[in-house]
Amino acid sequence: MAKVKLTDTTFRDAHQSLLATRMRTQDMLPIIEKMDEAGFFSLEVWGGATFDTCIRYLNEDPWERIRTFKKHMKKTPTQMLLRGQNLVGYKHYSDDVVEKFVEKSVENGVDIFRIFDALNDIRNMEFSIKVAKRCGAHVQGAICYTISPVHTIEKFVEIAKKLEGLGCDSFCIKDMAGLISPKAAHDLVKALKKEIGIPIDLHSHCTSGMAPISYFAACEAGVDILDTSMSPFAWGTSQPPTESMIAALRGTPYDTGIKLESLTEATAYFKEIRKKYGGILDPISEIVDTNVLLYQIPGGMLSNLVSQLKEQNALDRYEEVLKETPKVRADLGYAPLVTPTSQIIGIQAVMNVLVGERYKVVPKEVKDYVKGLYGKPPATISDEIRAKIIGEEKPITQRPADLIPPQYQLMKEEAEKLGIVKKEEDILTYALYPAVAPKFLKGELKEEMLKPKEEVAPPPSGIPTVFRVEVDGESYDVKVEPVGGFIEIKEGGTAVQKFVDGGVVAPMQGMILKLKVKPGQAVRKGDIVAVLEAMKMQNDIFAPHDGIVREIFVAEGATAAAGTVLMVIK
Ligand code: MN
Repeated sequence: MAKVKLTDTTFRDAHQSLLATRMRTQDMLPIIEKMDEAGFFSLEVWGGATFDTCIRYLNEDPWERIRTFKKHMKKTPTQMLLRGQNLVGYKHYSDDVVEKFVEKSVENGVDIFRIFDALNDIRNMEFSIKVAKRCGAHVQGAICYTISPVHTIEKFVEIAKKLEGLGCDSFCIKDMAGLISPKAAHDLVKALKKEIGIPIDLHSHCTSGMAPISYFAACEAGVDILDTSMSPFAWGTSQPPTESMIAALRGTPYDTGIKLESLTEATAYFKEIRKKYGGILDPISEIVDTNVLLYQIPGGMLSNLVSQLKEQNALDRYEEVLKETPKVRADLGYAPLVTPTSQIIGIQAVMNVLVGERYKVVPKEVKDYVKGLYGKPPATISDEIRAKIIGEEKPITQRPADLIPPQYQLMKEEAEKLGIVKKEEDILTYALYPAVAPKFLKGELKEEMLKPKEEVAPPPSGIPTVFRVEVDGESYDVKVEPVGGFIEIKEGGTAVQKFVDGGVVAPMQGMILKLKVKPGQAVRKGDIVAVLEAMKMQNDIFAPHDGIVREIFVAEGATAAAGTVLMVIK
């Protein structure tokens, strides 16, 4: 009987799920070689959100990180998670950018590419698979596991066969939300084993508490590889513990062949690292939550939702957002919740709750999704919902990337003009994150400091969040909480919505991506005056009325807290 192999995710998914991807390379470096020697099938070390957090918060070059791993890993393959045509970003890139990125990833040290598409739309995976294969990498084609009326075993098997047909070397059931039950895991692996010949990996999360049992059930059905993480970074919204799986499978036909003793030092090491990051470890990410079976929200998304609602000062709306999420998901054709659809559906749920009216505020990304620009939703979106979001516009039917002209040369020229290119990889960093990369590449980013537990960030200075307004001749000191173009004023304990004279407020905390107007400019009601990047989505800010832009309080690139007045239009 074949042994079961393990992919350890401590350096990527585990801290993405528990720590919003904040572990630093310097905290990984001392233990890489120990992990390399243990005998894992692979170590997942790159991809997913690592790229984003490195250049947005950690002031680290992600390319440097993968090179560091490759340098210290002599025995075990390095593995990355690639979002198909989205690479490590949140939208589709042109084929020439995809090609360059995959080539450079191989060159810098990626051995195994786990490639998925959020909608399980093969058209979005084909090109990156082809390039990775041509570069000689091992390609693991993945399906996003989810539960819905349209996600059947037959459907998953059909996709797996297509992936095998495209030359994938192995196959992964990517259960990013930890939804798969022991029976479902057993039945799916069994069905796949009959139909495909390549090794099968099961990737799950402990969120609902079932993952270790589902792993064993998958073993009995013939699974080849399981994803685990070192115990100090296991459980909760992360993977089942590596050490426990090794111990549990010892002496069975599924023995991993890894010696528990070979990991003692690494376990102790990661225990210390966990302490260091204790302040950002969210208690919600650590506990078992069977509600995930109702909401289907993956670990990474849960910890993001929590930190986003905290940023919005609206953590008390958490339960409401959880309940709204599956409704939005059903409205939008049962997309599996994984980046970027998790953000797309998550932010729409947040908007629906915070704004108080469903689909009144719709971010650009949600519109693009409904237009088919992310691929084909698993189920049809009703005419009613579609009309609410994109009006009369018709969704596209071709592969989204077919509509994207080559970008690489253009991005190269732009980046060169900005003077931020020291190596070819910098062009890709810029192409993927044009709004964030320049600051990082110019060396102007300050590493986000690790906060001790309970410390609350001070409100940003210079922008008024409490200010005096006149309403019907009376003047009030108000703390603004944005609802559309209105603010809430607490009057004797009850919240009353009043219109602020001339103030345009940020509906949620975010970064001012673009200012579309200048002081003195005349605008009409409904004109886009600014673009706010919140929760990695672009949100148009509209003029609430006709008038002249009197004053602008924020600059492009600045961060605005929810409710800050961005400008005054009178
Ligand atoms: Mn995962």
